[in-house]
Amino acid sequence: MKRTRRPLPLVLLLSSVLLAILAGCGGSAASGVLEGRAVAPTTATNLQAHVKMLSATIGNRSVSSYTGLTKAADYIAAQLTGAGCAVTRQTFTAGGKRVSNIVANLPCSSGASGIVLVGGHYDSDNNPGADDNASSVAICLELAKLLRGQAMARRVRIVAFVNEEDPWNDTAQQGALVCATSIASSREDLRAMINLDMAGYFTTRYRYALVGANAASETLAAKAVALFPRGTSLPTKRLSSRDPDLKWCDNGAFWKKGYQAILLSSPGYQYDPNYHSRADTWDKLNYTDMAELTKGLAAVVKGL
Ligand SMILES: [Zn+2]
Repeated sequence: MKRTRRPLPLVLLLSSVLLAILAGCGGSAASGVLEGRAVAPTTATNLQAHVKMLSATIGNRSVSSYTGLTKAADYIAAQLTGAGCAVTRQTFTAGGKRVSNIVANLPCSSGASGIVLVGGHYDSDNNPGADDNASSVAICLELAKLLRGQAMARRVRIVAFVNEEDPWNDTAQQGALVCATSIASSREDLRAMINLDMAGYFTTRYRYALVGANAASETLAAKAVALFPRGTSLPTKRLSSRDPDLKWCDNGAFWKKGYQAILLSSPGYQYDPNYHSRADTWDKLNYTDMAELTKGLAAVVKGL
């Protein structure tokens, strides 16, 4: 994601450090160690493996770290193909390099109509980008597995977007805008877009799924908040529609084309002290809570 207000307020940083000391841990509850109790241990383990692959094994991934970008694209495409999706690439040129959105259509139930699109960007801001945004890509990959074989009223499309980070944000080379423009020009029946961004940072104090929407997407946000508890006990929290950063996330690209789109995030959106730094590493995320968010998301997609 792209933040206009940065860095985090000092008082917030100090309080989170103090909390971490008091709690006797590194801030995030799980710190990369899976507790594995009662909740989808397989999903949590898989989420961690995806985030480690993207943020540590592959690392920086952007037009300026092009090898990482192409390796990430290949990994995502292979994982989604393995989950039974029909995968294509939406390829265009940015900064003289060929870059791609990875587009995966889940096998659809007979009679399914209208598209629900779930997406998240896979590029990083010249850093490991574990929370921002390997976390969301990992959730998309596991969502495909959770929904596989389930009867769905809608056609489900998962898209890993390229070029959300600067210098591409709010340009014609932002992957999400390329995707939204293509859907609009081909008059596809897109009913809802759910954008995941910074979906992996939870602490003992801050533990919820964050839902953000513009006024035009209020109906979708309300539906999502109502459906989410069908899949998980992780609470939801609404972000103010006046939040200044909300429109810079990839949901904003779909708003430009008139679609209902919401942000689904973690407390990391507001509180991750490692935002856009080299400290945004896989060991800071909470995979147990990410698995819960994934289950809540699956319930939303099924219910829409
Ligand atoms: Zn970012």
